[in-house]
Amino acid sequence: MDSSGRREADEAEAKSKGSGPFALAKENNVYANFGILPEQKVKAEIRSPPFKFATTWIEFTSSPIDQFNKDPRAFPIATNGEIFPWHELRLPTVIIPLHYDLLIHPNLTSLDFVASEKIEVLVRDATQFIVLHSKDLEILNASLQSEEDVRYRKPGESLTVLSYPAHQQIALLVPEKLRADLRYSVAIDFQAKLADGFEGFYKSTYRTLGGETRTIAVTDFEPTEARMAFPCFDEPLFKANFSIKIRRESRHIALSNMPKVKTIELEGGLLEDHFETTVKMSTYLVAYIVCDFTSVSGTASSGVKVSIYASPDKWSQTHYALEASLKLLDYYENYFDIHYPLPKLDLVAIPDFASGAMENWGLVTYRETSLLFDPKTSSISDKLWVTKVIAHELAHQWFGNLVTMEWWNDIWLNEGFATYMELISLNITYPELQFDDDFSNTCFEVIKRDSLNSSHPISNQAKTAIQIKEMFDAVSYNKGACILNMLKDFLSEDTFRKGIIHYLKKFSYRNAKNDDLWHSLSNNCLESDSASGGFCYSDSKKTSNTLAFLRKNVELKEMMATWTLQKGIPLVVVKREGRSLRLQQERFLSGVSKEDPEWGTLQERYLWHIPVTYSTSSSHAIHRHILKLKTDTLDLSEKTDWVKFNVDSNGYYIVHYEGQGWDELITLLNQNHTLLRPKDRLGLIHDAFQLVSAGRLTLDKALDLTRYLQRETSIPALLKGLEYLELLYRMVERRNISDVTENLKHYLLQYFKPVIDTQSWVDKGSVWDRMLRSTVLKLACYLNHAPCIQKATELFSQWMESSGKLNIPTDVLKVVYSVGAQTTAGWNYLLEQYELSLSGAEKNKILYALSTSKHQEKLMKLIELGMEGKVIKTQDLAALLFAIARNPEGQQLAWNFVKENWTHLLKKFDLGSFPIRMIVSGTTSHFSSKDELQEVELFFESLKAQGSHLDIFQIILETISKNIKWLEKNLPTLRKWLLITT
Ligand SMILES: [Zn+2]
Repeated sequence: MDSSGRREADEAEAKSKGSGPFALAKENNVYANFGILPEQKVKAEIRSPPFKFATTWIEFTSSPIDQFNKDPRAFPIATNGEIFPWHELRLPTVIIPLHYDLLIHPNLTSLDFVASEKIEVLVRDATQFIVLHSKDLEILNASLQSEEDVRYRKPGESLTVLSYPAHQQIALLVPEKLRADLRYSVAIDFQAKLADGFEGFYKSTYRTLGGETRTIAVTDFEPTEARMAFPCFDEPLFKANFSIKIRRESRHIALSNMPKVKTIELEGGLLEDHFETTVKMSTYLVAYIVCDFTSVSGTASSGVKVSIYASPDKWSQTHYALEASLKLLDYYENYFDIHYPLPKLDLVAIPDFASGAMENWGLVTYRETSLLFDPKTSSISDKLWVTKVIAHELAHQWFGNLVTMEWWNDIWLNEGFATYMELISLNITYPELQFDDDFSNTCFEVIKRDSLNSSHPISNQAKTAIQIKEMFDAVSYNKGACILNMLKDFLSEDTFRKGIIHYLKKFSYRNAKNDDLWHSLSNNCLESDSASGGFCYSDSKKTSNTLAFLRKNVELKEMMATWTLQKGIPLVVVKREGRSLRLQQERFLSGVSKEDPEWGTLQERYLWHIPVTYSTSSSHAIHRHILKLKTDTLDLSEKTDWVKFNVDSNGYYIVHYEGQGWDELITLLNQNHTLLRPKDRLGLIHDAFQLVSAGRLTLDKALDLTRYLQRETSIPALLKGLEYLELLYRMVERRNISDVTENLKHYLLQYFKPVIDTQSWVDKGSVWDRMLRSTVLKLACYLNHAPCIQKATELFSQWMESSGKLNIPTDVLKVVYSVGAQTTAGWNYLLEQYELSLSGAEKNKILYALSTSKHQEKLMKLIELGMEGKVIKTQDLAALLFAIARNPEGQQLAWNFVKENWTHLLKKFDLGSFPIRMIVSGTTSHFSSKDELQEVELFFESLKAQGSHLDIFQIILETISKNIKWLEKNLPTLRKWLLITT
């Protein structure tokens, strides 16, 4: 690869370095620099107060209270009782930050920090106040210098600071109006405690092998928490350069986005690290850490230094991450045809972390279990997870960091892409992980949610900090990735790649929105293509139909609008009449059947442009068509025995076959399932069970479809069928429907006996062999299958006798621990080992095992330990409550606990955060009785009355209602089917 991308980045950086705060070269067009093109300038000002406001402000400047008396509702009141001059959640756009100089001094003993910053800003329109974000910071002093003041070294003028905590904003009032098109420097001194939770600049602790507890300080800002660490313009559109300095003691190191330039020794032995100025970026990507970690390093082909950091005792678990990140960085630099623009990339395992990882530019932070790999205790699915998360975060260095969404409503442009790039990159860098066969599950996971009426469009309104947090959900991540996969399948790999390269190059260091992406994908001629006069859709593999479609840019935009601006998933109903196929599209709704009165209203105005694909018994070719209308007809060229839509499950839609369609497919699976592609078999199983939820297919038909599974050679399809059967089992077991529970258990153990019996207790075989082993043995032992329990007990005893030194095969570790946890001695021993273990992968498995105990007092003890946060870290509390709620003995306990301790939980996790949503839905969404529904409803009502409202409440209520209906309707069928079949 040539170095063009790198050179551009170097130039941008050189420009931003310089010496003084105004050394930034004046750019030709600062608005383009800001991400706003001149023609958009007018639009952007809509968010500024009407100009009248500024004039009025000047008029009333001696007495803003007069203004307030005129319309008190228009202005909030600051904490000091004065009028706060800004009333919107979004910041005014009259002031643009260009450069931040930050000096931070955290004290890891007193657990607080003092800091100062100088922000160079550009004034776009005359104004008398500067509004920026600040949360939980004590502002000590604020002053302002004009360009002239700086030149003549005049001291800054002191500013009045008003604070409006409800909007997490402060306003700096300037004595003299700031003039348009001039630059100023704002200096602020401030201090705060290191935060207790997982956001802003927070403390994290870990235990050494010797039992000592050590503290580190780390940042986590996305989406809106940079304002907890320093006052800033905390919106993704306000990209700026950052020069960071950190003071520390000599026993610590400091890390930040950029490499260290120098270290200065201060009086009293303190050290001050100076970091290179960053490239232009959003505030949520700024990061710094003060810790005592050690690292391993390597160099990517392009010369970028990659390092993996972890607490000293976990150093030996960092090597796999280094190998993977070097491989993936090389891959992405090549795939995107853009060099990673920073000189270094650090990946750091943080002992306390709320989510899985965070893509801070150049300093990516991870939960320990998302980065560290311990060959002795990490299973194959742990390996897949670590590799996926690294692939995801590295993709963000381009999708998100280099090109950022304009606002959080389009967070899918970050998250959908990063999730999708996991697939693209792993297929090439780690083909042995066979992730391609698992990707459909990414889509199946979100379909559950997207087929409820309470789902939301991919691009959704998000205003408040809570709403913004709630955008980080399966719709943004999974559905985003799935519609990109569908689009790539439709456009061809080559066109898709060219389009995203175009998008990334065009919007580098800037912000983009949906339409910019569609535009790049349909006009992806690179400079070189157009210069040579060549037409850039020259891929001869595409059908003429597709090509014609592509040429009309507006149609791609229109097509994708139906997937991003409209919630839900379409159902394609296929009816074959001779050689003609009648297609019909409707909105797929699980839990609402066509006979329900609300069905009609819920269908209104829904229409997608669906790129459908199909294959038939007479041709292996993939046929394509775009279904844009409610109904359409296709003519088959030959007579055919069967037709299968959604080839390889690449499309984001569900298919129902009317008439004899399903029977034909069931017969086909029974006679020779290999005539269908493996992913088509997987898709059929998924769709059949989804259609049962929507009342379109009877449960016995879906169950009949699984009767071929004994012969299934594709493990993902086999696992999918098993997953649905296990789900049915868990549902009837939980509700204590003993006859069906017993019969289903008997059926599962009998029918899958050949599969269970062939599993060995070793770590051998392909990824899918190993996944199958974990799943099947876990289920067999859960169902009390004697040979399984016996083998697991034997291994557990040997492990205990060896004082935890025996190496148990990693893929069966969870099963062995879970069986061992059923005796008091075993459970206690596991808890001891939990405390001692240095492997996050092992701790997760032990915690799961402990949560399967049948003794409520043991489960309660776990919850108490999780609340205390010492032995079981607070970061693991959500997963713990989730696991306990899945245990029939623990479900009521977990639910009661959440109800009674809601305010305590909110002290640990922010409302809207991922853990709090996981806790609420994890302890309720599996309920399936009217009493339970009522209880949950009452609880949510009481929360709303206290001012806590989350979108997830509606999703949960709808899910429980769906479960109730499902059971009422299908339980008799299940009971009967089992009697006939077994
Ligand atoms: Zn992400």
